[in-house]
Amino acid sequence: MKFSQILIPTTKETPNDASLPSHIYLIRAGFIQGYSSGLYNMLPLGKIVLDKVRAIVKEELDNAGAMEVSLGFVTPSSFWKDSGRIDKYGKELLKFEDRHGAEFVLSATNEESMVNLVKGSIKSYKNLPINLYQINLKFRDEIRPRFGLMRGREFLMKDAYSFHVDSDDMIREFNLMEATYSKIFTRLGLDFRIVEADSGAIGGSGSKEFMILADSGEDTIKVCSSCNYGANVEVETGEVCPKCGDALNETKGIEAGHIFQLGTQYSDALDAKFLDNNGKAQPFVMGTYGIGVSRLLAGIIEQNHDDKGCIWTKESAPFSVNIIISNIKKEEEVAEATKLYNELKAKGIDVLLDDRKDRFGAKIKDFELIGIPTAVIFGKKLSDGLVEVVERRTLEKSEVSVDNLLNEVLKRV
Ligand SMILES: [Zn+2]
Repeated sequence: MKFSQILIPTTKETPNDASLPSHIYLIRAGFIQGYSSGLYNMLPLGKIVLDKVRAIVKEELDNAGAMEVSLGFVTPSSFWKDSGRIDKYGKELLKFEDRHGAEFVLSATNEESMVNLVKGSIKSYKNLPINLYQINLKFRDEIRPRFGLMRGREFLMKDAYSFHVDSDDMIREFNLMEATYSKIFTRLGLDFRIVEADSGAIGGSGSKEFMILADSGEDTIKVCSSCNYGANVEVETGEVCPKCGDALNETKGIEAGHIFQLGTQYSDALDAKFLDNNGKAQPFVMGTYGIGVSRLLAGIIEQNHDDKGCIWTKESAPFSVNIIISNIKKEEEVAEATKLYNELKAKGIDVLLDDRKDRFGAKIKDFELIGIPTAVIFGKKLSDGLVEVVERRTLEKSEVSVDNLLNEVLKRV
């Protein structure tokens, strides 16, 4: 894409209410735009990243045998009354009435809706197990929305729900989801830990959180220095690892995923049963699995930034390469940059061509702020057959011959 044709409203101004790097940089680099407390528009760059992250989540879940559905955002309050959660969730649920006085809530999570969906469509053990997921908007009326996408009121969440004949099979799926989430977080280039967690308002017998390690994280976790054990401090944890006996160290994490062994609490409450192989009615045994998809954008930046701006990881970056034309009035610069742009596009690489009439300094500042992994700069040395390649993470520069440029760039993406 051409910079001159996309809406990327970069700014030097730090928003008044922003303290976290991800909040500051996602706004300053033109990824998102706040319009009301805890509510954000996704601008073109934000939408590109969100779609990339969403695609990775979908691909790995589909590979694991889960199936995507899309539930309505507006849910009858009766669903939440039947499960007994309407009071437990309290004011975080946004409630309203339609013109006939019927009560509704905006979906904050969808256990009830999904149980009703399955109750209406699965009657026999022969159709089990099944794992259904959606990547949809959620709304939680946070008392103090803050930190941008980290704790917004409206957000994009992947929520999956699995249904089983017994708890052994549910635990098998729980373990499969743990492995699947690990693949997703690894592909996103994140440094993360899986920790034992409290099940909170969702309920159930066992749960694990996926924590992105970052100094700004709201959760304190204890991680083992020797093995992969970790636990949220809200869970009973000692000073030594229960797995291997080595010391546990305290660190900060951002919760970006949470998986639960639910059991039958929702099936019991909503009277959702199937016929087992003896023809006897049994409640579905459930698991549920969430990923904060829009929160991941903030999590990636909390872990990957410097004092100049964002540093996107390879699979999350809005573009892989940022081609910069130093001076748009120089015909040779424009011609060579456009040539590389077309060659990379032909190879299927996402590339941004900075063809604006702006000063060179402003273009470099925007490259550092937006955080595309690699920049290729067509400038003064082009007359000697040289261009400059810059790695965003290290800001390391190297001169590359124009003749060898395509190969050099391809090596880095
Ligand atoms: Zn250990």
